[in-house]
Amino acid sequence: MSKHLFFDLDHTLWDFEANAEETLKELYDLYEIKYLAPISSEEFIEIYSKINHDLWKLYRNHGITKAQLRVQRFEDTFLAMGVEHKHIPKDIGEKYVEICPTKTALISGAREVLDYLQQDYTLHIITNGFEESQNKKLKYSDLGRYFQSITISEHVGKQKPHPLVFETALKNAKCESNHGIYIGDNLDADIKGAINAGWKAFWLTQDSKGYTNPDCQIISTLRELKTYF
Ligand SMILES: [Mg+2]
Repeated sequence: MSKHLFFDLDHTLWDFEANAEETLKELYDLYEIKYLAPISSEEFIEIYSKINHDLWKLYRNHGITKAQLRVQRFEDTFLAMGVEHKHIPKDIGEKYVEICPTKTALISGAREVLDYLQQDYTLHIITNGFEESQNKKLKYSDLGRYFQSITISEHVGKQKPHPLVFETALKNAKCESNHGIYIGDNLDADIKGAINAGWKAFWLTQDSKGYTNPDCQIISTLRELKTYF
C-alpha cells in the first residue's frame, strides 16, 4: 500500500465553519453592522454563508474570478440585507481574507490523527483554496509541519475535481505510484475527483446519502482513519 496520504484542508482538517463564523462575528462588531441593517450576527452569517457557497460553485466553474468572489460575496450579502450600495463597507472583503486564515479551530481529532499517521506515512495536502490563505491557515494552526507537499489548485490552474490537480499532487509528492489515497469532505470535488483520477478515497461525512463506491470508504470522524492505517 502507498506510503503517501493526501488530505483536503478546509472542512477536513481546518474547521472552516467554526473559523469563518468567528471571523464573521468579529466583522459584524468591527463594522457595526447592526447599525446598517436590523439583522443579528447569526442572520448576517446565515445570509453570507449561503451567498458564499453559491459564489464558490460559480468560481469552481470559472464563472467568476477570485477577486470578484472576494468582493461580491459581501456586496451581495449587504444588498440581500437591504443595505444601500453606498453604505456597504468597502474593505470588509479584504478584512475577512486577512483575519479568517489566522483562526485555528480544527476538526475533531485532526491533530491526534496526523500525529499517528505521520509515524508511518508521508502526508500531503491538496486544496482548492487560495495560496496565501491556505499557507496562512497551515502556519497559524501549526498544521504545516505535518505535510511534505502542498498542492494548491490556484497553482495548477484547475480546481478539484479536475484530474490534473491529482496528477500534479503525485508529482509534488514525488510519489512513484500513479494513484494515491485522498481524504476529503466534499463528494464532488474530493471523492469523485479522486476516484476519477484512479485513486482511493476516504469520505469524511455525517451524511453519505446512500452513496457507495468500491473505491470509497465512508468515515464519520477523522479518528476512524486509525483503524485503516
Ligand atoms: Mg474541504
